[in-house]
Amino acid sequence: MKNTTELFASLQPKLCAYLRRLGATEQDAEDAVADAFEVLLERASASSEERINDSAFLYTVSRRNLYAIWAARSRTTMLEPASLEAVSEAVTPLEVAESPLVTLLESELSAQALRALTAPDQQVLRKVYFEGKGPREIAVDQSRVPGAVRTHLHRARSRFREQYLNAYARRNGRPGCEDRTALLCKCALDTATTRQATEMSLHLSECMDCRDLISDLRDERTSLGG
Ligand SMILES: [Zn+2]
Repeated sequence: MKNTTELFASLQPKLCAYLRRLGATEQDAEDAVADAFEVLLERASASSEERINDSAFLYTVSRRNLYAIWAARSRTTMLEPASLEAVSEAVTPLEVAESPLVTLLESELSAQALRALTAPDQQVLRKVYFEGKGPREIAVDQSRVPGAVRTHLHRARSRFREQYLNAYARRNGRPGCEDRTALLCKCALDTATTRQATEMSLHLSECMDCRDLISDLRDERTSLGG
């Protein structure tokens, strides 16, 4: 297991910055992150199971802790009605409450990203995350071949990540560098061509704001499990 102290030193500032961007005060961000690390430690000692991704776990738990702090103070979160609606559609089964998409829907950016997808993409993501269905069941529902559903699902997930990062970059990008946000996202997702990546690294060498933004985008990508 990777040393938790090391993990704390490298991730704590990033996690705090992430929560600050969601609207947390400095104190709330620090509290939420500290609690998330405690949960990670408890989980590590309770189970010898190999953990898939500590970073993604910490992002998710920190964000949930922040929402819990806000809820305790009955602060209105910045959730859009649309994302609340999507979550309440999901209620019943326990797995649904734990699903990555519900966590994602807790943020306005995720709701934006979901809305930017085509209806078939939204539908297939909802079936998996809200109805807990597998590709085989979806194939039966939609009279399709399971392989085609799997491919579609894989692409819908990656389009979701791309839309999410784009929404994030549009909101946090530096004025004057707006025309570079799409390419920044591609670089963060490793989907840029060699030529595009070279062009971007030239810009990054002279633009600190875009350097910060691309490192945030990579964190966001990690938190989406991509
Ligand atoms: Zn720039």
